[in-house]
Amino acid sequence: MYNFTNMNKTGKLFVISGSSGVGKGTLLKELLLQHPDLKLSISATTRNPRPGEIDGVNYFFTKKQDFEKAVQNGEFLEWTEFNGNYYGTKEAYVRKTLSKGENLILEIETKGALQIKEKLPDSILIFILPPSLEELEHRLRGRNTEDELSIQNRLKEVKREIECSKQYDYRVVNDDLSKALKELEEIINRNLGV
Ligand code: 5GP
Repeated sequence: MYNFTNMNKTGKLFVISGSSGVGKGTLLKELLLQHPDLKLSISATTRNPRPGEIDGVNYFFTKKQDFEKAVQNGEFLEWTEFNGNYYGTKEAYVRKTLSKGENLILEIETKGALQIKEKLPDSILIFILPPSLEELEHRLRGRNTEDELSIQNRLKEVKREIECSKQYDYRVVNDDLSKALKELEEIINRNLGV
């Protein structure tokens, strides 16, 4: 028996952003485990792989020169420079996935997210907020991996992103993982018409 459920139906595009230290990675991992109907997009980046990261799984690790060529060829739906590296989402991949009726999640920063909203107004933008700036500062300091200057810079960037998030469709506060996950799932289900 054929499954006609997704015939002629375009998939939904969800864009999720959130500052570092906000628990976005854990939330996304849980969401994807519970939703096999969501596909996570793989971005291209010029940054070096971190230990354990695999090309074609975490990112398409790309040479700066090749990335710039793809920009010139208009291959990106959005791209940006972040912390001295380029990150971008290939347009052909997104359009092909959506046209097959598959739902896609992009986990990208705010400048890219707003570019997507402009090009694809039906996309759904979700921002994960920290419970408070004080709490986030506490989490960042708790990691004990950064000096004072980089912590200050990160906090400045967080404030800029939170300002940007006012243009998002939804904002979810991650003060409790299971509560935030439930809220995120409700947003997704509502938009999928489940
Ligand atoms: P990281 O280097 O820690 O993996 O990612 C740094 C930032 O780049 C994160 O905020 C992540 O969401 C963002 N990012 C990852 N891929 C893309 C992308 O394709 N486009 C944009 N605009 N940002 C991305």
